[in-house]
Amino acid sequence: MAHCILKIALDTPLNAVFDYRWTCEDIDRPQIGQFALVSFARREMMGLIVDIADHSDVPEDKLKDALAVRTQLSPVSKQWLALAGFAADYYQRPLGEVALPGVPKNVRVPKSVPLDNALKKLAKLPDSHDPTPHNMPVLNAEQQAAADFIGQADGYQPVLLYGVTGSGKTEVYLQACAEVLERTPEAQILIMVPEINLTPQLEGNIRARFPGVMVATLHSSLSEGERMLHWLAAHTGRARIVLGTRLAILSSLPHLKLIVIDEEHDPSYKQQEGLRYSARDLAVWRAWQLKIPIVLGSATPSLETWHHAQAGRYKLLPLRERAVKSAVLPQVKLIDMERDKPRDGLTPPLVAALKLRMERGEQSLLFLNRRGYSPVICCESCGWVSDCKRCTSFMVLHKGEYKLRCHHCSLEMRIPRHCPTCGNIDLQPVGRGTQRVEEGLQAMFPEARILRIDADSTRRKGSAQEAFDTVHRGDVDILIGTQMVAKGHDFKKLTLVGIMNPDTALFSQDYRASERLFAQLMQVAGRAGRAGQTEGGSAAEVLIQTRYTQHPLYGAVVNHDYDRFASALLQERQQAALPPYLFQALLRAEAPELANALAFLAEARDCVEHPGVTINDPIPMSMTRVHNVDRAQLLVESPSRPALQAFLREWMHVLRDMKTRVKWSLEVDPLDI
Ligand code: ADP
Ligand code: ZN
Ligand code: ZN
Repeated sequence: MAHCILKIALDTPLNAVFDYRWTCEDIDRPQIGQFALVSFARREMMGLIVDIADHSDVPEDKLKDALAVRTQLSPVSKQWLALAGFAADYYQRPLGEVALPGVPKNVRVPKSVPLDNALKKLAKLPDSHDPTPHNMPVLNAEQQAAADFIGQADGYQPVLLYGVTGSGKTEVYLQACAEVLERTPEAQILIMVPEINLTPQLEGNIRARFPGVMVATLHSSLSEGERMLHWLAAHTGRARIVLGTRLAILSSLPHLKLIVIDEEHDPSYKQQEGLRYSARDLAVWRAWQLKIPIVLGSATPSLETWHHAQAGRYKLLPLRERAVKSAVLPQVKLIDMERDKPRDGLTPPLVAALKLRMERGEQSLLFLNRRGYSPVICCESCGWVSDCKRCTSFMVLHKGEYKLRCHHCSLEMRIPRHCPTCGNIDLQPVGRGTQRVEEGLQAMFPEARILRIDADSTRRKGSAQEAFDTVHRGDVDILIGTQMVAKGHDFKKLTLVGIMNPDTALFSQDYRASERLFAQLMQVAGRAGRAGQTEGGSAAEVLIQTRYTQHPLYGAVVNHDYDRFASALLQERQQAALPPYLFQALLRAEAPELANALAFLAEARDCVEHPGVTINDPIPMSMTRVHNVDRAQLLVESPSRPALQAFLREWMHVLRDMKTRVKWSLEVDPLDI
């Protein structure tokens, strides 16, 4: 019998890997990448063996024995450990916090029964026996060229698949998958989507095209049992295609040969709490590490990605036309709300267009990115407004439920019968959310089948899917929705998109607001006219209601001109020294009193030397108070990523030792600042 020291990463907030002793015959030594059970802070915990050594610096009498090593599972690969290590380092988080939460609970619990059952279930599933694709359509020339380039790429090769909405990017992914699966016997492919519930068509497509291949899905709405099974299918190499949301980027895929990121510009790829990572950026790193191709697909690429493509670092593969020949891009028109005054939020030209679709039996979509009935109610006699007591925001009117609700802290109250300050009984809703639009439409078109799709109407599990099915079946005339309806859907009968009130985003102080608005408008506009010519024989239409018809952003949408718009934005960013020409990190602090949060940040600002890095002054966040907590932030910037990283490493060291009651967190490459 001999001793060895297992270096084990645990999911703890401490930035460390812990030493444990293990006694065994030399030939039975555990392997790096296996899971081991240890006792930590009087609890049993499963950790990951990241190294094995002969000696430890921990004194002999303090050193504890590991309790067990999970030998049923093959170890995660060295490359996977390196990926977790990179993410931990880059985002300044403890390794265990990166490596472990993505692993299903049943792998991590001490008992082996659930794991054994899983493994048994997995053994019963049909193996990937035949990668031959079925019913592949004939691709057009641009699609075929793109698929071949990706399918035959050798080594690290980032590709931007830049295709207008409806250009058939999905078919390119599937054809490239087919080529990779055919070429490499064990190949695994990771396909990432922003939100799986909004892209059910893709999963169906993949399964139908590759009936002889095991497809696993990884996303947050799986049950524990499902998650376990799918994770193991990926980890054991049996699943050849893994379809998942951002968390799938940290899954163990021993034979990964291709990564696809659909809608790469989508902000959902960024995790907004805990480990605030960008799944897209990690995916690019993973592809580089494994020397494999990666496809970033979008009709409106993020400026970061576009910048890389312009500089030649990513191969640009364009799809300039819609795949269905007769499905020309919709005509985008602006409606001047100063001239055509709206009633119930709808201008006369939009109402007329809706009427025409009703007559033709075609579908319309009204897009409004604001749920609820109205964003605030007010008293016209004394000026009272429905503030949230706990947040710097308003309570939103949800009329059907007789409630006011804060969308930030979920505080609810009954609608007051009279004004709380002056007693006036005539309280007025101000502004318009999807529920109010629905009510107005119902009055205007009593015979129409109207369906609203937003976070409120789809709370129940499965209800979003039901709603989308209703639209696909053609049982809806007018669809009203938030950004939930903008993404990816291929509604065949939809020939009109009305965009109700996009102007507010034009004047946001967030420098990314116009990039986002443009992407959102192009996305939602892209839902129209996908199946080809309408019965009326005319192209599908997108009507944008605005008070700023001269704004260049709208001009770019009208002309479907992403290229020019993106170039102009990039030029602005360069002149203003903003990302992607600058690298940023944001230190956030929260405390019951704003002064404490600001004081902590001021102390943090001055505690470390910082050559090559600019530290701005601490400021309150634009929505300062949420749920009775005040929030402030400190922005750190540098034109050099390595300089910023070096500074952050040292800075975090000092901050972790600082005694403070203030809760703080660091975000690298923040999206919202
Ligand atoms: P995107 O993701 O680029 O918006 P999709 O992949 O959803 O576009 O494709 C749009 C439509 O075109 C779909 O209905 C799809 O079935 C169809 N399509 C794609 N490629 C072809 C092709 N080569 N031949 C015929 N139809 C195609
Ligand atoms: Zn009042
Ligand atoms: Zn609130």
